[in-house]
Amino acid sequence: MEHQSLLRETYIEINLDRIEHNIRAIRSMCGPGTTIGAVVKADAYGHGAVALAPVLMENGADLLCVATLSEGIELKQHFPNYPVLLMGLTRSEYFDDVLQYHLIQTIDTFEQAAALSQSAAKHRQTAHIHIKIDTGFHRLGFLVNEESINRIEAIAHLPHILIDGIFTHLVLLDDTTNERQFQLFLSVREALEKRKIHIPCWHIADSIAGVDYPQYRMDGIRAGAILYGLKGFHKRELDILQAISMKSRINHISPVRAGEGVSYDFTWRAEKDTRIATLPFGYADGYPRNLRGKGWVSIHGKRAPIVGVICMDQCMVDLSEVPKAQVGDEVIIYGDGTGNTMSIQEAALLAETNKNDIVSRLTRRPPRVYMKNGEIVKVRHGFLPA
Ligand SMILES: *Cc1c(COP(=O)(O)O)cnc(C)c1O
Repeated sequence: MEHQSLLRETYIEINLDRIEHNIRAIRSMCGPGTTIGAVVKADAYGHGAVALAPVLMENGADLLCVATLSEGIELKQHFPNYPVLLMGLTRSEYFDDVLQYHLIQTIDTFEQAAALSQSAAKHRQTAHIHIKIDTGFHRLGFLVNEESINRIEAIAHLPHILIDGIFTHLVLLDDTTNERQFQLFLSVREALEKRKIHIPCWHIADSIAGVDYPQYRMDGIRAGAILYGLKGFHKRELDILQAISMKSRINHISPVRAGEGVSYDFTWRAEKDTRIATLPFGYADGYPRNLRGKGWVSIHGKRAPIVGVICMDQCMVDLSEVPKAQVGDEVIIYGDGTGNTMSIQEAALLAETNKNDIVSRLTRRPPRVYMKNGEIVKVRHGFLPA
């Protein structure tokens, strides 16, 4: 049963036209020959992977990339024909699920590959994999040495395995480190090609590298943040638009007299008589609790600063700049920066984290409202059956 009504004042709005705009911009930046892996892990960075997948795949993406097996299964249950790469490792006890859902598995040891080959034989399938190389990040991957080349060669000769791609991940410290990683990765390609092992898709670039270093696009890029219009690049330009916003309404207004405090521990006290609005969202919706004393919302196009401790489900704002505000009025929690709204970029700065963290921490409690051509096309409730 689909509930089209929100059931709540606080919600997250996703502009699907902007997602379409962004993936098209990425496609035109890369040109037709580059594989675009759309990174939709963490529920598409809080935007909703199932709602976004068709928009991405119909407008330029070739492949969906997620981190975990359950994320991959969710996508495959909705879209059995979209190729999905699991960028994280999966323990061999779950290989039956990997094969049942035809997921592409990242592999970084010979033993995993051999176990996957055995499971694939049992399923009468060929398992598709990407090999992960560690060029210095030291998270996952084969180290770059002779022994690893031997092992990758052995994987290539396993009977029920097909190596679709091979990748590594950049540290993004500086140009020198990036280039050292890139050259190491190229040395792996050279060594494998000497042994007549040709892997079709070599990829190193994430969003930032994909924009800032065109030479690192190789056969493909793994684009996450830029799909959602979140800009972390700084050398070159890409015309993308933030697709997410978060909204609510004023729930209650309290007249607070000079000297009185607000919220737990009275960390804030009114210097003068102040109208305080209570808003029905809190840190359990994914709003950073450390924005206390720094964050604000936009009401009537004006800033209303958050005062006092942010609670789990509610927070309070000072209405001094918005004297006409009333219960029921719209509140913009995150916007695109226009109309005194706080952008994701600004929230990240104030919360001392990055943009991906601000959006991927949004929980399933606020419903996702999907807009196309200015109209609601879908509402997703995190707690109700789809
Ligand atoms: C998350 C992730 C990406 C995407 O990162 P963005 O910076 O959001 O583009 C790319 N590659 C790997 C391996 C990842 O884990």
